[in-house]
Amino acid sequence: MGKCLTLVSEATHGAREPELRRQICRTGRRMYKRGLVVACEGNLSARLDSNRILVTPAGACKGRLATGDILITDLNGTVLCGTGPPSSEIQMHILFYRLRPDVRAVCHAHPPTATGFAAAGRALEEAVLPEVVVSLGKIPLAPYGTPGTWELCAGLESLVTKHNAILLENHGVVTCGQSLETAYERLETVEQFARILLIAESLGGPRLLSAAQVQKLVAARARYGVSCPGDAELPLTSEARIVLTRPERTSAHQEEPRDREPRCKR
Ligand SMILES: [Zn+2]
Repeated sequence: MGKCLTLVSEATHGAREPELRRQICRTGRRMYKRGLVVACEGNLSARLDSNRILVTPAGACKGRLATGDILITDLNGTVLCGTGPPSSEIQMHILFYRLRPDVRAVCHAHPPTATGFAAAGRALEEAVLPEVVVSLGKIPLAPYGTPGTWELCAGLESLVTKHNAILLENHGVVTCGQSLETAYERLETVEQFARILLIAESLGGPRLLSAAQVQKLVAARARYGVSCPGDAELPLTSEARIVLTRPERTSAHQEEPRDREPRCKR
């Protein structure tokens, strides 16, 4: 790690690097302790400067990272500092840094409930909880792509510019932010929302907020210090969708199985 620091030409970046390494390790431990990842799943990164990122190594448990384990790569994924290969999902991280100059950190994990929605082909795109509307808006579902390949990035590309949290079909969740703390908190928010939505659905389905209610929440973003991409998509409101009750859904499934689509499927 000391050797890495000598390569840093700009003093501010040199000062930031040790702190970012510590933040990545701390965030990895939080992800692991909360069960958002198990074993060696998930990956984290932080922007060091305009052309370099810090990223977790491949095959490392996020609960046991040491600051010296973190690699530095350029935005082509070439390792500039550190031992061993970077995370196999580094291309996904680089996609965020290339398309979003505002993004300074990316978190990827497999939180069980949100990943369950992703495995069922379900986005989290309905206006249900005010805090989720304010902090994330709509949480879309990116089409499946083989993990660790550009195929995954191809499905994500159009969504990265509009969203700070995205479900990955049959895979997990990726979030970004202006800090590791923010990116991590968004990951927790997605998982919590998925858990609450699952409970609401077991009780007959959520009651969606109206368009007027959503607009008030969006207007409050500045007051809460929340920044979202300018062209961020808003969640579906009560006017935009007819919400079927559970018995109606069961009946529709039985009578017209070919017409039935998961309510949040793209
Ligand atoms: Zn993954």
